[in-house]
Amino acid sequence: MKKFKLSNGITHIPLELPWQSPGFVNVYLIEDSDGYIMIDCGVNGKKYFSLLKNYLQEEKIDLSQIKLLIGTHMHSDHIGLSSSLREEGIPFALYKNSIDFLNEYNDWTLRFKDFITYSEKEGAPKSFLLDLNSISTPSYAGKVATPDMLLDEGKIKNVKRNLSVIFTPGHDQSEISIHDLKSKVIFSGDHILPRITPFIPTVDSESNLLNDFIISLEKIENIDHKTIAPGHGKIIEEPHKRIEQMILHHQRRSEKIVALLENEKLTGWEITNLLFPRKLDALNLRLAFQETLAHLKYLEKKNILKHNISKYNSWEVVKKT
Ligand SMILES: [Zn+2]
Repeated sequence: MKKFKLSNGITHIPLELPWQSPGFVNVYLIEDSDGYIMIDCGVNGKKYFSLLKNYLQEEKIDLSQIKLLIGTHMHSDHIGLSSSLREEGIPFALYKNSIDFLNEYNDWTLRFKDFITYSEKEGAPKSFLLDLNSISTPSYAGKVATPDMLLDEGKIKNVKRNLSVIFTPGHDQSEISIHDLKSKVIFSGDHILPRITPFIPTVDSESNLLNDFIISLEKIENIDHKTIAPGHGKIIEEPHKRIEQMILHHQRRSEKIVALLENEKLTGWEITNLLFPRKLDALNLRLAFQETLAHLKYLEKKNILKHNISKYNSWEVVKKT
């Protein structure tokens, strides 16, 4: 992947990831009067740290000039390397609610604990539950300790350039986008991506992250901006069009789910298999299931579907009188 040419003192670094798709994460450096603000940093590991250092050298930026590292959200491809950078004296910032999710970030058995119980209720087979039970924290996640700075919405303090935090949960519960007022660029992390719609998870029976995600998209839509610099893939030159496409994608999927339930009652697991009939590997099956459940929760809260707990935990359409 090639570097983007960005103006207004913004540097782009495409940093390799240990997997194929997406194969790179976008790291950005924003120039300030007394150094640089870095957005996201890639996965943990010596190899990735060397790659990052090589790129910085090419750009003639020294690690000591980076005065703040901001993580857009708590996924390993965006903050895995943060502890190595903190060891170099670079302070690390995340959104303020991140402290609620640090233990789950560092220990993936905690991360999937509630989801295992929830999956069972939604009709997932034993093999799937065993698979969830066997997940452990990968080394590329690194270890993340309490951030040095907890961000709130609005202008970032201790930074001279006018950078503003927008809380955009959905893909992750602590996801933020950063708005640079000088260039009118929004750094969107994985909230808005150019080609794929980001995965929307279900973490437990309470969360309604698809609803959060749609609200977050509308939030960005209402901010005066020119381009979106995403966490993966190319710069988005027509952000409004992309936002509309993403909303439409989820609308269509919701409609498909309601159509499936018009004539029969189905469990979350059965719906997933009808929506994704192709054979999926363990990871993609989990993502498909989590996302289907996110839709079911969303439709339940909108009073379009209801969950019939007494009848095999199946879902059905709410009949309007
Ligand atoms: Zn990502």
